[in-house]
Amino acid sequence: MLWAEESDIVVVGFGAAGATAAITAHDMDASVIMLEKTQTGGGNTAASAGAFVCAEDLSGAIEHISALSSGSTPRDIIERYVHESSRNVEWLKSLGANIESRGGASLPQVTSSSAIKTYRVQGHGNGGETLWEFLKQQVQKRHISVLVKTPARELIQDDRGKIIGIIGENAKGRIAVRARRAVILACGGFEYDDELKKSYLPGGTFYAFGDPANTGDGIRMSQKVGADIWHMNAVAGPLGHKFNGFEAAFPANLARQSASDPFAYAFIYVDKEGSRFVDELSLENHLMWSAFVYFDPEKLEFPRIPSYIIFDESVRQAGPVVRDYVGNNRHIYSWSKDNTVEISKSWIESAPSIVELAQKIGIDRELLTKSVEDYNVGCHQKNDFFGRDARSLVAIEKPPFYAISTYPCLLNTQGGPRRNADSQILDPFGKPIPGLYGAGELGSIWGSMYQAGGNLGECLAFGRIAGKNAAQEQTI
Ligand SMILES: Cc1cc2nc3c(=O)[nH]c(=O)nc-3n(C[C@H](O)[C@H](O)[C@H](O)COP(=O)(O)OP(=O)(O)OC[C@H]3O[C@@H](n4cnc5c(N)ncnc54)[C@H](O)[C@@H]3O)c2cc1C
Repeated sequence: MLWAEESDIVVVGFGAAGATAAITAHDMDASVIMLEKTQTGGGNTAASAGAFVCAEDLSGAIEHISALSSGSTPRDIIERYVHESSRNVEWLKSLGANIESRGGASLPQVTSSSAIKTYRVQGHGNGGETLWEFLKQQVQKRHISVLVKTPARELIQDDRGKIIGIIGENAKGRIAVRARRAVILACGGFEYDDELKKSYLPGGTFYAFGDPANTGDGIRMSQKVGADIWHMNAVAGPLGHKFNGFEAAFPANLARQSASDPFAYAFIYVDKEGSRFVDELSLENHLMWSAFVYFDPEKLEFPRIPSYIIFDESVRQAGPVVRDYVGNNRHIYSWSKDNTVEISKSWIESAPSIVELAQKIGIDRELLTKSVEDYNVGCHQKNDFFGRDARSLVAIEKPPFYAISTYPCLLNTQGGPRRNADSQILDPFGKPIPGLYGAGELGSIWGSMYQAGGNLGECLAFGRIAGKNAAQEQTI
């Protein structure tokens, strides 16, 4: 093997998990090289809202996350997650970051939820960029070499099964990078890989909000060297809007309203025929997708993909119907404050009556009229058929009326190579593949219900665990 580069540790992917692993390994006196597919790195981390979990009541947090996991993640891994993530604030502060609180559990009804606390790095912007810029500066300060525009293609395994390096590809061709101690895979999820999405996620049409570079490369590379995979059907999937010419979807804003938010509530969701099907405010942001992937076995289709959000003039005037400050489109498109530009582009359809609106978007006039009328009756009687909170029942009656198509979209995918509490990637028999570690969204610990801030909390926690353990491997 002709090695183009070599170091003790090779980290694949320059997002929060990769940066944290690289910083940790470097600070334990290991030399580190990073391979990054894009020009800048940042991945989903920079596109995110930047909140991360840092539990204070450890036993409560273990109970809470165990309940969310429904047995999908072994107890020792949850314990390790909670213990290590409880150091997240302290670790970032020790590097010089200012930290602010972001609140508590996103599923407060689940046992021991008061144990969960979330934080973010203080600063301007969407939160994710602030965290990302901070970690990037730490990498640069340490002069850790980042080979940008160099996607990793294949792991190199010796005849005893140990991972000894990686093949990357840059503008000049393929290069072999030797890892004297270990390789850490931290190259994100498969939000933009249609084949993996079709195989593992229901509904087929899952668009995504984050970085289009995340195409599940780490899954294929690790499978090729014998890794088991897990949590492939676990995602966090709020609602979003997708338009031609944009690779990523725009995160829906209306969909995030909860009964305690002071916003206009004159909106409902209807399926592609015009029927309302859910209490819109009962859906926790990250779990929304689950209400939209119902499959109709008679029609052989997913009748709620796409769905439509129907709203009236009071909502149009209340502010942008998307959150354009997070996600991949944040630097590409600035949504108008009163939604008028997007109405003129027909991204949002408008009409003076509900019947005309139905005609415009091509759905059943009678069904849509009935859905809106039934909802309005419930508003006036303060008694909604789907049980929506009476405080949020505002009739859809101020013309013009609007419709925007909406899809369940990915904040993340959680699946990838299975790992243990030491961040080692395992084969299907539970045995670590020597010299191979994983961290972050790739093979995440979140196998069922998801706690907001859980991914970045994991990037920081298992980034440190992977970096530390990889640095302690014997040099070959
Ligand atoms: C809009 C949005 C909001 C979110 N908000 C939050 C939040 O507030 N809190 C939270 O916890 N989570 C949030 N998430 C999820 C969270 O951002 C991600 O789960 C997390 O950032 C993943 O970090 P990572 O380091 O594992 O991967 P990423 O940050 O995605 O980094 C992966 C990197 O690997 C690179 N890469 C890919 N393939 C290769 C290859 N073959 N070779 C080399 N490099 C490669 C990519 O270019 C990328 O730079 C949000 C996500 C989105 C999209």
